[in-house]
Amino acid sequence: MIPFNKPYLSGKETKYIEEAVRSGKISGNGGFTKKCQVFFEEKYAFKKCLLTTSCTDALEMAAILLDIAPGDEVILPSYTFVSTANAFVLRGAKLVFADSREDHPGINEASIEALVTTNTKAIVVVHYAGVACDMDTIMDIASRHNLFVVEDAAQAIDSYYKGKPLGGIGHLSAFSFHETKNIIAGEGGMLVINDERFIDRAEVIWEKGTNRSAFFRGEVDKYGWVDIGSSFLPSEVIAAFLYAQLEQLDDIQRKRKYIWDYYFNRLINVVEKLEVQLPAIPEFASNNAHMFYLVANDLFIRENLLARMREKEVHPVFHYLSLHKSPFYNTKHDGRVLNNADHYTDCLFRLPLFYELDDQMLSQVIEAIS
Ligand SMILES: *Cc1c(COP(=O)(O)O)cnc(C)c1O
Repeated sequence: MIPFNKPYLSGKETKYIEEAVRSGKISGNGGFTKKCQVFFEEKYAFKKCLLTTSCTDALEMAAILLDIAPGDEVILPSYTFVSTANAFVLRGAKLVFADSREDHPGINEASIEALVTTNTKAIVVVHYAGVACDMDTIMDIASRHNLFVVEDAAQAIDSYYKGKPLGGIGHLSAFSFHETKNIIAGEGGMLVINDERFIDRAEVIWEKGTNRSAFFRGEVDKYGWVDIGSSFLPSEVIAAFLYAQLEQLDDIQRKRKYIWDYYFNRLINVVEKLEVQLPAIPEFASNNAHMFYLVANDLFIRENLLARMREKEVHPVFHYLSLHKSPFYNTKHDGRVLNNADHYTDCLFRLPLFYELDDQMLSQVIEAIS
């Protein structure tokens, strides 16, 4: 049986965890947390990074930082994970769902401007499969209407838009290190603050609403409760695990791209017969090989393919159910039809993609689908 995912260990995770434990500092914001944050700040020139316990938490921090409040509207794709939406609903925002592009599950940038009203506060984009949204167009709409942009970069580590690293373009960005992502920590995430105005307050929200970080830097002589906040920072045990993964980032990315290219090159000649479409990568986007998905021509074809592949001991999976049709939000949605999001809900499926897939397993996957 070839599973959909298998968490990869780079080798030093337990060694670094042992170091963290022996150091006597195992709560958050210690040595390994700083090493991870500096890794991203240096490699991708992100202005300020704060590790979080999940991408979900990083998105919640973003919603707090933007002062999202009841009456505010947030534009986001319907075809995404619940956390993209929940973070803003928790602050009382009304969600305004945008459709996906026809050639890609990411937000259709051309549909955004018509959704902007005087109540709109933010645009939240999701770089689906690690493939960039059209950020120049989106940042331009945001600046003309005075809106904030949050990148849900959960899947987008080490991926680029016109050469710029994803997560470094919007005002705020959120990454995930959940065990299904390219770089993992079990559960984990990171908030990236690209707009300097948010840096000081982000640290306060991160540390339960206290100015503890400023205190430890010697900037204030006692620390106390200065704002709302929560316990958003992970322990050093998580950060130690994550650092071991980050050290192997290039190797992990090389292997994942090999697998992605293998699938693409082997499927190019059979997709027509199978009645499925290959993934499209817009010319402005890079491919970080987070995911290899196919889009069947209809739901029946997809279900048939998934069943046949499972008979052959390969485990592909479908993905999101459009949020505008979810049991929680469908009665709150404004009724617009979102055809592309619905199409991806019905027709998209993903092939196994994890480090330990070798050529023999890959050819088994190709055989099963063919
Ligand atoms: C994985 C994922 C999340 C959630 O990440 P967690 O770290 O599990 O909270 C949010 N958004 C997208 C697009 C994701 O893929």
